[in-house]
Amino acid sequence: MIPEEQSGRESTRKSLTEHGLAPNKRFGQNFLVDERILEQILDAAAIDRQDTVLEIGPGTGQLTRRIAERAGNLVAVEIDRGLAGMLAREFEGDDHVKIHCADILKTDLPALFSGMGTSSDTVPTVKVVANLPYYITTPILLSLLPMTDLFSRFVVMMQKEVADRMRARPGSKDYGALSLTVQYYAVPEIVTTVPPSAFYPQPDVTSAVLKLERPEEPPVSARDPEKMFALIRAAFGKRRKTLVNAVAGAPQLGIDARTMKKALQDAGLDESVRGEVLNLQDFARLCEVLSP
Ligand code: SAM
Repeated sequence: MIPEEQSGRESTRKSLTEHGLAPNKRFGQNFLVDERILEQILDAAAIDRQDTVLEIGPGTGQLTRRIAERAGNLVAVEIDRGLAGMLAREFEGDDHVKIHCADILKTDLPALFSGMGTSSDTVPTVKVVANLPYYITTPILLSLLPMTDLFSRFVVMMQKEVADRMRARPGSKDYGALSLTVQYYAVPEIVTTVPPSAFYPQPDVTSAVLKLERPEEPPVSARDPEKMFALIRAAFGKRRKTLVNAVAGAPQLGIDARTMKKALQDAGLDESVRGEVLNLQDFARLCEVLSP
């Protein structure tokens, strides 16, 4: 083990013991102890005093302290009462850091940031920086990514396998509804891959830091993104089937095989095509011809 990991591991273990705490598997607690990875996360986030940051799951505060040194405002949402209490005491009296003890999936995020913008009644644009709880990576990102007015950039650690699915391109084995949904809202880029030895306790999987940047222009113009995502989910729900059969077999869409064949024809696509080779533009075009 390299010295940075060893000393980070010991200080994390010590600070937990001093507060009568221990890593809780139920909350996905694998604390990041490698100094170099912490720095890579901060570099990718490019935080300065103009920035407001949301940290999800601050844990023992290794990342939190470093973000607090750089950001104008930091809100950290932690579900574990013991850890949230420990950090709230540490940052007591520090006006630019707010530790919020709550479940991130049940938190009204626009309300949490209201009044923190440039005037007292506005909401700022926020960077999300986190070593995510892996058991809820996808629900967290799928709920935050659509908030395009609130969140500008994400730099988030997750299981590498999930990061690979988020950035997969058409035709690859990892490509699916998650890739298309994430890539509708953001441009994903792997900052670095991270071995289990960078954490205490060590997880069973390899991790990756993923940066998600908002595109300058939306990749497609979808009049009704939810409708498009429903079509995408149906296409990948039965990924070995042709798109026509997958869609016709998803009664909630209300699109029969004949209508789907005609839509494919109108969109200039082969009627035997499978969803797994279509890109976002293809799905947007199909939606357009299905409900002009
Ligand atoms: N940021 C710390 C670090 O890098 O060492 C801890 C990261 S650990 C992988 C995930 C953190 O998310 C834990 O502190 C855990 O308690 C917290 N957490 C788990 N579920 C959560 C939820 N639903 N809402 C908010 N925080 C959560």
